[in-house]
Amino acid sequence: MKRTMTRSVIALVLALCFLLGLGYLCFRFFTENDLWASQTYNRYLSGGKGLGAAGTIYDRNGEVLAESVSGERVYSSDSSIRHGTLHTVGDGSYNISTALQTRYRSQLVGHSTVFGYGLPESLKSMSNMRVTLDADACGKVYDAFAGREGACFVYNYKTGDVMCMVSTPAYDPQNVPDNPPDGSYLNNCVSSTFTPGSIFKIVTAVAAVENIDNIDDVTFTCEGEKDFGGDVVTCLEHHGTLSLDDAFSQSCNIAFAEMATMVGADKMQDTAEKLGVTKSFNISGVKTAEGYFDVTKADANQLAWSGVGQFTDMTNPAQMAILCGAIANGGDAKLPVYIDGGLAGSAGRLMSEETASKMADIMRYTVSGHYGDNMFGGLSVGAKTGTAEVGEDKEPNGWMVGYCDDKDYPLAFAVVVEEGGYGFYSAGPIARTAMIECAEALGFEG
Ligand SMILES: [Zn+2]
Repeated sequence: MKRTMTRSVIALVLALCFLLGLGYLCFRFFTENDLWASQTYNRYLSGGKGLGAAGTIYDRNGEVLAESVSGERVYSSDSSIRHGTLHTVGDGSYNISTALQTRYRSQLVGHSTVFGYGLPESLKSMSNMRVTLDADACGKVYDAFAGREGACFVYNYKTGDVMCMVSTPAYDPQNVPDNPPDGSYLNNCVSSTFTPGSIFKIVTAVAAVENIDNIDDVTFTCEGEKDFGGDVVTCLEHHGTLSLDDAFSQSCNIAFAEMATMVGADKMQDTAEKLGVTKSFNISGVKTAEGYFDVTKADANQLAWSGVGQFTDMTNPAQMAILCGAIANGGDAKLPVYIDGGLAGSAGRLMSEETASKMADIMRYTVSGHYGDNMFGGLSVGAKTGTAEVGEDKEPNGWMVGYCDDKDYPLAFAVVVEEGGYGFYSAGPIARTAMIECAEALGFEG
């Protein structure tokens, strides 16, 4: 009798241990399932360094960017497209943390927590992905960088669709080099910030429009340099007397240093934050790098330089495209999205409709009156260039940001070329290629 009791207790304890163990295993199976599934030693994933059975990634036109053929990962046959879409698609190394093949590798290999790899055929299509990018545009833009480093981001400010997202330096995902170039794991469009230089005059102009009474009647005088707080701010030209519109289109530093001073540090700070300069945006699940603007402790000279995009100012390319898109869209900012079918949310109202309309006029005047519409193949573009001093004997960063105000081609863009020199000559031709290619993808015939 006693022996039976002891046996029962032992059996009960063993059963309990078994159930607890099973429960723990189940718990880990469901919580860490995706992690286990995508380990490189998993035999289902052998070949192509773990992506040999992964689904296909298509561009907006159904062009294949990456697919699996006989257990090997095969990328676009076009070298420029492979380089130009590297930071969106990724490679087999998983070193580009923001790329689709890194972030969604378990989804791409069709792994399901319930079915494991025995996913029913009817659900297999889930392992394919489609992005909103135009592969040809990305390839041509990659070529236009011609080995220089930087970023080019173009998106539809009505739908949110990102059409071009190119970051350089890049490498070939089909033949990953042993030592990829420094900085090539970073998607500069979303993950980097750069000194803005004169493209920041967009922010200062918004602050001036919203805070200086009768701004259209105010004039600024430029004699090449001017004292602010005991030290000079310099300009590249002697612009003479200028209105806001002319100061913007001719990019006069003195006028914008003056505007920042008139607006004051508090309202400059408020405006930069309200326009999203210091904010992070969620683009298809990737958070953009926050820019930087802080004049809370700036002296008079630093505040003046902050208004022309120097001092400690930093901006992110995607964020600048969102700001330009908001100007074109009556002040309302659409959040960019590049995974097709994703919901493009709102990035909020960045400015009033009146301010947006005034800014659109100034930016449009800058292109039609100064650069000429030929620059964009006849597209109706509003833009601002920037040439940002970065010090240490380096060439300045070249920028161009803007938008197309045609309802058939509602595209906003930001291009930066690191150490590219003058924005008009370095970023300008890349912006032209990107805007014409993306507009053509929407039906534009230049
Ligand atoms: Zn000037």
